[in-house]
Amino acid sequence: MEKYRILINGKSEGTTSHQPVHNPATREVVGMMPVAMPADLDRAVTAAAEAFKNWSRTSDAERKAACHAIGAKIEEHAEELARLITLEQGKPLNGLGSRFEAGGSAGWAHATAEFDLPVEVIQDNEQGRVEVHRKPLGVVGSITPWNWPMLIAVWHIVPAVRTGNTIVIKPSPYTPLSTIRLVELMNEVLPAGVVNVVTGPDTLGAAMSAHKGIAKMVFTGSIATGRKVMASAAETLKRLTLELGGNDAGIVLPDVDPKAIAEGLFWGAFINGGQTCGAMKRLYVHDSLYDKVCGELVELATRMPMGNGLDEGNVLGPIQNEMQFNKVVGYVEAARQSGARILTGGARPNGPGYFYPITLIADIADGHPLVDEEQFGPVLPIIRYSDVEKAIELANNNPHGLGGSVWSSDASKAKEIALRLECGSVWVNKHGAIQPNAPFGGAKQSGIGVEFGPEGLKEYTQLQTVYC
Ligand code: NAD
Repeated sequence: MEKYRILINGKSEGTTSHQPVHNPATREVVGMMPVAMPADLDRAVTAAAEAFKNWSRTSDAERKAACHAIGAKIEEHAEELARLITLEQGKPLNGLGSRFEAGGSAGWAHATAEFDLPVEVIQDNEQGRVEVHRKPLGVVGSITPWNWPMLIAVWHIVPAVRTGNTIVIKPSPYTPLSTIRLVELMNEVLPAGVVNVVTGPDTLGAAMSAHKGIAKMVFTGSIATGRKVMASAAETLKRLTLELGGNDAGIVLPDVDPKAIAEGLFWGAFINGGQTCGAMKRLYVHDSLYDKVCGELVELATRMPMGNGLDEGNVLGPIQNEMQFNKVVGYVEAARQSGARILTGGARPNGPGYFYPITLIADIADGHPLVDEEQFGPVLPIIRYSDVEKAIELANNNPHGLGGSVWSSDASKAKEIALRLECGSVWVNKHGAIQPNAPFGGAKQSGIGVEFGPEGLKEYTQLQTVYC
């Protein structure tokens, strides 16, 4: 089995110990993750700090070109990377799966290359000139989750590189291989030390967020871990971007055509088998069309092929790991015991993988863990409402605030309601669509700061006001 290697200062390095990485579709080992030691992290941070001296002084044009070169490298190796993502993450090659992830990663790199943070002139008159400059921070530490391992790595690395920072990334131990390969490819087009990768257990992440040599942490993962990152970053007052969990509500108004919106609702909830931060995780449907919407979703659920992601016909894959699988099963069993109605799914199929069918649960309400908490899997609670004001109140009565959506044939009415939802992104008649030029971030406990577009780039800079 291939032993993967960490990459520090442009050099791929072996480690003394390794840990197996499993394919969640088969539970077979697909590669061996190198286990980096705290001393390896120290060396990676030192290499990044050394590289920062030159990289922070490169021209804007040079950094732009470097980000395009990263995009081109990903394109050139898109199929290889997609297969690696499918092997370690489980998502299918097709549909909104790993080819989509690899293509999105390349697209994001190219788009990010083109964002600018020009010097802002606040004043220019006889009293003097005042300018605002954006300068890189230093070494960025990046910690990523297992659901979109490569896309999120690109979201962390490319803006850092674009703004003149250097970076050390630590991917999730469940999905480290595609990130290692991505960083190897990046190092073919970047100076040594600009992008480094270390892999290992959660404790390596903890060491990173406390590290004195790191100026900023960009973290994507659960709220619980985000809190730990924030606490340990406090000692050195690190800059922070935290992209955390979500429990997005969708509200379906009584004026929609259930058939017309069904597919949008389905993929809004079940992209990557529901293992997506900004997926719809609670659906509030008006009483007058509740049964019709449920029926349309059941129909879609029963005909979307789920299976091994390497089989071209599948559009849904397994849950990524055993811990998450057990969590999802627990939510469904608790719902079942409380008397909720399981419309489809709800039973584990035979076989070695962590497959769990699309599960739609009706006659469930707020106050139930499946509604109140983030399930992060192929299960959707569908809640009946009769007063839209109550639905808005329930949607907002949650500590999460990542996204939300409103579904209606009256776009302006939907937008009015959308604006009342307490979340960082909100959609009308769709859910979860994101793009590189639109800022994305969480309200309330779903995060701090934003990614994407010039607003996202700013998070990798220190503002300097110049009076001249
Ligand atoms: P997680 O918090 O368990 O792990 C995320 C990363 O943190 C992993 O790399 C892990 O090794 C590392 N880690 C664990 N303990 C740590 C510690 N004490 N200090 C520092 N790092 C530590 O999350 P996960 O299960 O991998 O991902 C699922 C969660 O991520 C969900 O809640 C999901 O909503 C969220 N997520 C959010 C976004 C977003 O943009 N808002 C995107 C994707 C996923």
